[in-house]
Amino acid sequence: MSYSQKSVSVFSKNVITSSDSSSEQSEKIMKKTDSCTQTRPARRRKSTLTQKQYISSGTIQRCISKNIKRITPSERPKRRKILLMDWKRFHKLDVIYSFMNELEKDFPAICTVYVIGKSVEGRDIKMLKISNSNASNDAVWLDGSIHSREWITTAVVTYLADFIVRNFQKISTSITNKDWYIVPVLNPDGYVYTHTRDRMWRKNRRRHDDEFVGVDLNRNFSFGWGINGEEGSSEIPNNVFYRGPAPFSEPESTAVRDTVLSAPTPFKVFLSFHSYYELIIFPWGYKTDPCPDYLRLLEGGAIMARAIFENSGIIYKVGSTKDLTYYACGTSTDWSYAIAKIPYSYMIELRSKKYKFKLPKEQIIETCYEIKEAVQALMKFVDQPTQISKNLSNS
Ligand SMILES: [Zn+2]
Repeated sequence: MSYSQKSVSVFSKNVITSSDSSSEQSEKIMKKTDSCTQTRPARRRKSTLTQKQYISSGTIQRCISKNIKRITPSERPKRRKILLMDWKRFHKLDVIYSFMNELEKDFPAICTVYVIGKSVEGRDIKMLKISNSNASNDAVWLDGSIHSREWITTAVVTYLADFIVRNFQKISTSITNKDWYIVPVLNPDGYVYTHTRDRMWRKNRRRHDDEFVGVDLNRNFSFGWGINGEEGSSEIPNNVFYRGPAPFSEPESTAVRDTVLSAPTPFKVFLSFHSYYELIIFPWGYKTDPCPDYLRLLEGGAIMARAIFENSGIIYKVGSTKDLTYYACGTSTDWSYAIAKIPYSYMIELRSKKYKFKLPKEQIIETCYEIKEAVQALMKFVDQPTQISKNLSNS
């Protein structure tokens, strides 16, 4: 499926509704929330007319004084829907999707929201593309919540989108010379499920024999799929690493494949965010051998790790997936590197080893800051080889 279908739907569930009495309180909260994006509340009807003006108004004059109390209730503002986006807490899917739509609305010259596919349960998989439409750009892929319980990944990815868009006119050209393909919630069914039923759900919501067993989407990509037996993934549906019945059996992984392979710009960087091991890892996951670009990927990873350390003092280890974790077969990064030929393909395992998947909300913004520094450093690094080759050709 191509990603040319532009999103038009706006979710309205799970919102904070505010009646007249609490609207002032809500406005205070909105004012207090810095660096936040929100959907616009329905405009409050101004009741600036005095009682005298009401009475003198042609329309209302017929209702004069004895009905004035009956007029007053209609002057109350309608119940409003407020969807706040910030990085002080974890948000539900509708808030994330509204945030993306708002960015597109506020920055139409550089932002476009696409629906790149539908989940198993029929939810939109939404992608925000940020681009100045320069034909010479390279592309960068960012995704979060392929594993639904890893909520910090969605927070970080949305923060990066917000940062890039709002600072587009003043940030480094190594950021603005890229087309950013950003999918904050790659596994929307699982993400909703972690908010409503089971906080620790990892997989998508695929049914098998009438049971919701789920497929581990990060074992469902084609490269290295199903090898190494039960070590790198599982053929058992109830297993947490269940790889699915075939490569790309799932619409969520298929959406990544189709979007990346049909993109008009060549991808240079693929970053898939996970938690909680504090690692920067790269191919291979399906075997122990180093990948052909091991040293270059190690260097790029080290540059990110250094930026993180200098920002927050947290040490992220860097290495190949198998070296630092275990066999992981059918991952998105092995696929993006080997099949989509994206030279800088990384999985970034965010915080935290201490709290595992349940990172305290107080650490969201710090995690966002450190990863912002890492991504900026990587963008500079990946532009260097081009500069070096230009210098060589000029000399
Ligand atoms: Zn994960």
